Parts: sequence; C-alpha cells; structure tokens
Amino acid sequence: MTHYDIHSIRADFPILKTKVNGYPLVYLDNGATTQKPQSVINAITDYYTQINSNVHRGVHHLSQLATDAYEVTRRKLSEFINAAQDYEVILTNGTTHSINLVAHCYGKQFVKEGDEIIISAMEHHSNIVPWQMLCEEQGAKLRVVPINDEGELDMGAYHAMLNERVKLVSITYVSNTLGTLNPIKEITKLAHDHGIPVLVDGAQAIQHLHVDVQALDVDFFAFSGHKMYGPTGVGVLYGKEKWLDQMPPYQGGGDMIKEVRFEKTIYNELPFKFEAGTPNIEAGICLGAAVDYIKTIGLSQIALYETELLKYATKALSEIDQIRFIGTAKEKSSVISFLVNGAHPYDVGVILDKLGIAVRTGHHCTQPLMERFGIPGTVRASIAMYNTKEEIDLLVSAVKRAASMLL
Ligand code: PMP
Repeated sequence: MTHYDIHSIRADFPILKTKVNGYPLVYLDNGATTQKPQSVINAITDYYTQINSNVHRGVHHLSQLATDAYEVTRRKLSEFINAAQDYEVILTNGTTHSINLVAHCYGKQFVKEGDEIIISAMEHHSNIVPWQMLCEEQGAKLRVVPINDEGELDMGAYHAMLNERVKLVSITYVSNTLGTLNPIKEITKLAHDHGIPVLVDGAQAIQHLHVDVQALDVDFFAFSGHKMYGPTGVGVLYGKEKWLDQMPPYQGGGDMIKEVRFEKTIYNELPFKFEAGTPNIEAGICLGAAVDYIKTIGLSQIALYETELLKYATKALSEIDQIRFIGTAKEKSSVISFLVNGAHPYDVGVILDKLGIAVRTGHHCTQPLMERFGIPGTVRASIAMYNTKEEIDLLVSAVKRAASMLL
C-alpha cells in the first residue's frame, strides 16, 4: 500500500469536492458509474478545441488526427485486456450494446431451434433480455445456473447443464448486486471442453481486476467506458477473431462496408464490419485517457486497496445489529448489498442522501436475483479507487442513524 497516494488520487477527481446538503459528498454509487479524473475531462476539451473531425473518412489533417487518436484508443484497450489483435476490439456504446451485438450476430449464425443458451441467476438485465429475445426468435431455450444463499454459482449444476445443444454461455465476471467474483477461468474451461464459446459481462470487473482475455481464454468480453473512469456512450466488445469472422455485421451503414453496389455490398474487415456509422469519437478518445489514468495508478495497486476497503466496510457494517447482507460469497469485489431489517431500501437511501452519501437502492437491474432472495431490492454501496475508510465510517454512522429513525 506504500505507493497508493489516496490524497493525490482524490485530488484528480474534481467532483469529489462537492457538498451535498452541506455534507461532503461520499460517492458510493460506482457500480452505476464512476467519476472522471481531470485528465479525462481535459481530453474532451482538447478533442473539441484541437482535432474535432470525423474519423476514417477524410484525407485532411484534422480527420487524420482524429482517426489516429481514435485508433490509439483501440490499441490502448487491446493492450489493457491483452487481446491478441487490435482488430478483435470492437468499439461499441457500452456493455448493453456489446451483448446485444453478440446475441444478434452470433445468435443469427449459430443458434437454431432446440438449442440452448446458458446464463446465471445473478445476471444484469442486459445479460438476460437479449438472450430471451434471441431464444424467442429462434425457438431456443434459456437455461439459468442457480446460485446458493451466499450468492455463489452452483458449479455442479452448471457442469451438468453443458451438452451439445448449448451454443453459448454468457456470465458476469462480477455481480453488480452481490459483488460475487465468478470463477471465469473454470467456467470457460468447462464450456470449452464441450466446444461451447463463452461471453463474459465484464462491466463490473474491468475497473477492479486485471483482465487478460487470452489467459481467461474467453470468446467474448464486454464492458463500458463510464464504469472505468471514462465517458458514457462508449464501450468494448472483445471477440476472438475466429468468431467475429464468422458473424454477420450488426447494423448496416457507413464505415462497415468495403464496397456498395445495388446488387451486392462487400463488408469491411474487422473491426469496422461491426462499427456502422459515425462513432462516439470524443468518448472513444477520452476512454483512452481513462485507460492511461488507470495504468498510472496501477490496477494491482487499485485491486489491493479496494480489497482492503471492502473488508473494512464489510466488518464495520456487520457491527450494526439490524444489518442483513445480500451476497456473502467468499470471492467478492467492490460491492456490498444490504438491508436494514424491516426498513425499505429506498427509505434508507433517502436518509443517506440527506447526509451526503450516494448509494443505490432498488433491484439494480437484477429483478430475477431479487426474486431469488425474496426481497424487493437492496441498498448497495459500491467502491472505487478513490473511496476511503473515513467515507466508510460516515456510511456506517449514517446507516445507524437511518436504522434508529426507521425501525
Ligand atoms: N452488466 C453489469 C454487470 C452491469 O453492472 C451493467 C451496468 N449497471 C451493465 C451490464 C450494463 O452496462 P451499460 O448500462 O453501461 O451498458
């Protein structure tokens, strides 16, 4: 921890100086979106003041600069996740877009009537609904890996579900509601033993853990820029070349073509085949700045710091009598969900907000998971690299206060 200078990290995020209702902001809603460092904010201004232009189209100076900057981001992202090739990194609008792209393009090509898709009981709606839509369209079946009361995947049940009808496994790396860290390497190995590709929803992992798509051997990996200190409106779909090559394009339009004739269109090569139309150029370039920022701090340092903070927060909150944790897996990352027994999560959230503390309350886009636990929702505190023990202490005393007011 010696190199982790929390004061200078916090100073890089101007919004953290905000006061809410006269209290210093304690931002613990990082699972929803993270705050942005000044370098990312500056990158937006720099883009519009220096190189604003459309990419991949013009021969003129500004267009070259914008194209180079945009493609540098792809390079940085590719290196960040250790993709074998830069063209395996498709720039999308975010995780939701990335998963829908695979459901649509892979699904159209490979999923037929009677086939099966496996997801888990802890998936975000964006890793449920696209597969439901696909299954409905193709006459396929959605199968759901159950979880235990701690919020861990039932790996025995998963293993038993794998058979020749299964055409894809799509599972989250870290649960946005429970914080459970799933054994992706094992999940992938088991699926591959049956020749089944695996998509990993990395929305809650990419900012907390070192992701190496080749070491994990995943076939697809999806994540969002805005959850990793970058801007909204940009994200990534990593896909192995062998799958991307066999998939038809997602949308038709400019950039995704090599040649258009009324009789026939020849599609562009990877990654452009999946990137129709003008992309979110400034967001793409700024995501490169976010990757630079994370690398300056160091993901292993961030992971160490956040793990310690998560332990500290779990212990401190567990000392409140009325607390009930939802999600007590052995392997967890960055998220604590809880209920203050008898109180509605929304009411707790409102009191915390009055005290300057930003948490999320509700079902967190995981309604089937809430049903599994028989609850309407949770209070969720999700941490990021800039949170502190002092902020956790403020959270704990605010939860105590909420408990005394509501119970
Ligand atoms: N999956 C998980 C696990 C998430 O936490 C989220 C965002 N809450 C998403 C998918 C969807 O991400 P986005 O809204 O950025 O597309």
